[in-house]
Amino acid sequence: MRDHRDTGGVTDGSVAREDGSVTERVWNFSPGPATLPQQVLEQAGERVRSLPSAGASILEVSHRSSSFRAILDEAESNLRELLEVPDEHRVLFLQGGASLQFSMAPMNLLRGSARTGAYVVTGSWGDKAVAEARKEGDVVVVWDGGPSGYSSVPDLAQLEVADDSAYLHITSNETIQGVELPAGSEPSSGPFLIADASSDFLSRPIPLERYGLLSAGAQKNAGPVGLTIALIREDVLARIPEGLASMLAYRTYAEHGSLYNTPPVFAIDVLMLVTRWIRDEIGGLDKMHERNGEKAALLYEGIDTSDGFYRGHAQAGARSLMNVTFKLPDGTLDTAFLSGAAANGMLELKGHRSVGGIRASIYNAMPLEGVRALRAFMDEFRLRNS
Ligand code: PMP
Repeated sequence: MRDHRDTGGVTDGSVAREDGSVTERVWNFSPGPATLPQQVLEQAGERVRSLPSAGASILEVSHRSSSFRAILDEAESNLRELLEVPDEHRVLFLQGGASLQFSMAPMNLLRGSARTGAYVVTGSWGDKAVAEARKEGDVVVVWDGGPSGYSSVPDLAQLEVADDSAYLHITSNETIQGVELPAGSEPSSGPFLIADASSDFLSRPIPLERYGLLSAGAQKNAGPVGLTIALIREDVLARIPEGLASMLAYRTYAEHGSLYNTPPVFAIDVLMLVTRWIRDEIGGLDKMHERNGEKAALLYEGIDTSDGFYRGHAQAGARSLMNVTFKLPDGTLDTAFLSGAAANGMLELKGHRSVGGIRASIYNAMPLEGVRALRAFMDEFRLRNS
């Protein structure tokens, strides 16, 4: 097993127990739920024992208590600060996972409308979003990467999208295939965007002005599973018809400050701690993006300099900074790669069954040190097997 080093609050590493023993932490390349910052885990552990000011565990406090009110307010204000959320966007805390958004968005913004929902399908999650939207209204797929195995992304500004479409739906990062729309590629005109940003939320700045609705499941970059964050523009909220089930209407969450029913208190608390970590330890989203770029470059360079031993799934211009997907020369080597990596403390590298090969998920909280360890292993494995 690797040794554990402290690299200033942004490292994975050992966890000191109260009794002085140390628990082992592997490099966890899981696609989600995913690795969280060590510092956040330690703080969350403390808060499970006792939340300062409450005299009770974060798992025990009422969602109507002043302690939680402060947490909810700080989670929102930190998100607003980090993402430079415009005043006309509301920040909502939802449940039901990112998958519920595939239904909830068209239920609120397409059902009963004479307009068509336009969808860009760059991977498996976008495909799922289309299937759910079809149950709510008219859908047109304006770009589909399926026939080419979801290895590329379109230039959004060049797509033909009817101006009177209800919206244009994108998946900013396709977690399974490892393809990501480049930063800043949002078209400057046309219908407003709806984005499933589950797997690259908080990894880079986003020009939210163009987004009518952006949502993300928390369990990759933002915290534990059980929380979905949604940013919705006021004028989009105003379009939502009356009569939807209360729990499935964005308006309910907006009108009640996400406190219509009991929100996921613990997950919101951890999100708040993660936003503090990005702000105070990393220095904001520009820095986060830069760091993510450096980490991904290490792995893509390992692929590009492997003389064809490693074959990246995503084409140039579509490579994800979050999920790096690649194949070995022969599928029978996958098991040897995975077990060799595991023996070196690197876990959860198996590609999704629909793609095969290897997927390294290197979200915000994966330290550079973990990525360096994987790159070193890739180089060494190639030399041994080519
Ligand atoms: N969208 C994307 C981009 C995802 O990566 C995932 C989960 N991996 C989902 C949606 C579905 O998320 P959930 O399991 O929270 O419904």
